Amino acid sequence: MARTHHRAIRSCWGWMVIGLVFAGGSQAFGQRWISGIPWSEPPIVQPGDNFGPPSDAIVLFDGDNLDAWEGGDQWELKDGYAIARKRTIQTKQHFGDVQLHVEFASPSEVRGRGQGRGNSGVFLMGRYEVQILDSWENETYFEGQAASIYNQAPPLVNASRPPGQWQTLQILFTAPRFDEDGELESPAYVTVLHNGVLVQYNWEIQGVTYFNRPPDYQAHGKGPIRLQHHGDPVKFRNIWVREIALTPGVEAAEDAEPEAAEPAAEDADQESDREDAEPEVESDNEDTEN
Ligand code: MG
Repeated sequence: MARTHHRAIRSCWGWMVIGLVFAGGSQAFGQRWISGIPWSEPPIVQPGDNFGPPSDAIVLFDGDNLDAWEGGDQWELKDGYAIARKRTIQTKQHFGDVQLHVEFASPSEVRGRGQGRGNSGVFLMGRYEVQILDSWENETYFEGQAASIYNQAPPLVNASRPPGQWQTLQILFTAPRFDEDGELESPAYVTVLHNGVLVQYNWEIQGVTYFNRPPDYQAHGKGPIRLQHHGDPVKFRNIWVREIALTPGVEAAEDAEPEAAEPAAEDADQESDREDAEPEVESDNEDTEN
């Protein structure tokens, strides 16, 4: 009885769907809405294996040498990884908006406590620190533990691995923008995955991540990526970066004449009926130059 009832309901739904198709006709299902933004074809990128660099990445350290880094000759190289020694190092190349991949391991021999244990850090544009610390059963102030935005934002969770184990930091960073007078137009934002776990989600960076004074912004251009030497022999390997560029279509759209927009509709049935595809191109994202 119940089964018959269910079949009847299913049959009823089926007729309703068919009815909707006829009622809606091609308006509902026959043609794709087209934004008019002249998107260019996304470039092909070969992904890396096991967090290796994608084909379009700038490799900053692959285990061989630290030639991409000022001061890299001061760090120790061993068995395909680098050990923080003597000084903070920074990339010779400067960057703005980036996707950054870094792998690190806290010293397997546990020494010190709090901020004095496995301390290092990744500084974006030389100023904004994503903290590296041995935060495995190591108490410190929350906005100073591993994967914090130092002295500003604790990680959402503590995803640390034990000392000596390799850990990943994946950082998505939007650089701050300043106007011609050096005034802040838009702050920096950062998203961080620590060992694949979301720990910072589009955090609005408050300014330079100082230890002993409140954060502030002072106008600057692109800057280096810095790896901190804080006295602890933190290990690093597999470091690469991709500069984030606006999709060409978005940039092109800012100058595009709406009526000139010719969407690339290659399917014959999608090209058949486009008389109402006259989009208005509007962008509130015009001031993205640094
Ligand atoms: Mg640090």
